[in-house]
Amino acid sequence: EGGGDGTDAPVAVELDGVTKRYGETAAVDDVSLRVREGEFFTLVGPSGCGKTTTLRLIAGFEEPTTGAVRFGGESVAGVPPEDRDVGVVFQSYALFPHMTVGENVAYGLNFADPPEGTTRDERVAELLELVDLPDAADRDPESLSGGQQQRIAMARALAPGPDVLLLDEPMSALDARLRERLRAQVKRIQSELGITTIYVTHDQEEALAVSDRVAVMNDGTPEQVAPPRTVYREPATRFVAKFVGDNNTFAGRVVDATADGELAVDVDGGDETLRVAVGSDEEGQDATATRSPDVGDRIDFCVRPEHLRVASADEVADETAVPAGENTLRATVASAEFLGETTRVTLDWGDRELLVRAVDPLDGAVTVGFDPADAHVIEVEKQ
Ligand code: ATP
Repeated sequence: EGGGDGTDAPVAVELDGVTKRYGETAAVDDVSLRVREGEFFTLVGPSGCGKTTTLRLIAGFEEPTTGAVRFGGESVAGVPPEDRDVGVVFQSYALFPHMTVGENVAYGLNFADPPEGTTRDERVAELLELVDLPDAADRDPESLSGGQQQRIAMARALAPGPDVLLLDEPMSALDARLRERLRAQVKRIQSELGITTIYVTHDQEEALAVSDRVAVMNDGTPEQVAPPRTVYREPATRFVAKFVGDNNTFAGRVVDATADGELAVDVDGGDETLRVAVGSDEEGQDATATRSPDVGDRIDFCVRPEHLRVASADEVADETAVPAGENTLRATVASAEFLGETTRVTLDWGDRELLVRAVDPLDGAVTVGFDPADAHVIEVEKQ
């Protein structure tokens, strides 16, 4: 049975119609998910969307109100965390300060024997090697940096050789630079072991960087479950489009449709008609988007900032700045943030805003162009 991700690795962890209520609140609301063996699967979403509760249900710290959690096809209802073959790493490193690093890692073995043919010391050395801290065994945990402590926490969680690694915001206490380094290390360790990993983060960039697939959660429910590329390029809902990276979303009414799949859309809040190409997206997109819009339907669509071409008023005068066949909008620069490689520019477009990327400084009146093929239809409201 497939997990909807196009691979045929067996399903390692499954949530089947899982709801968790606290009084009136459904922290997790009828969630069905399948995580495959060896997969790096990430739950991402804003604070309070139910990521941590989902992870706690998988770990066994909580039991669902309704629905089933299955490991390798078997229900784990009533099975305590220590019997679920999971390694868990939390936001706080929670290393024991009165033990050495080596003793902390060995503590992870307390409930389990080291793998056949290895001693405890050998297993600890192997794990410290894995997390790239081979000489740290005798050190005091508090003498390590936050990122190093988090790697030791991972080594401890991995010590008994769990089937599944669960990581709950393991980097959120670290500064930005350290987070980037640690996430590369976490990814390397995961692929070296090939261990099924479920990762919780509120950081969409982190989620895109490390995952095989991500579940973008909102209000206790995943709105899209797909590989990072698909979530970014073909967001299934307006929420996903806004949450994952910068995006420009438009709403309007289809006023014309050509045989080659191009729509003319009267955009809300102005008198522009923009063209949107449908059916040019990559495969694997959400069903809502493929429901082809007809004349009269209302649609939402989005265009990523990097797909908007911006030209100053002067450049437009020579009429080469925006290629023929593209949509053209007139806007004014409102503000700019220099990000190093690019500048993130906010434009006023009537009483709406547009986000664009620019290399050179921009000011005053500009013309914005985009290829109809770079517009992605998010939702269609049939009339
Ligand atoms: P954050 O990133 O802020 O940790 P989250 O996405 O992990 O958020 P959860 O911690 O899973 O979200 O919480 C989801 C919802 O359930 C929230 O509204 C939260 O207040 C509520 N909730 C979570 N745990 C409990 C609990 N033990 N008792 C009551 N309500 C809870």
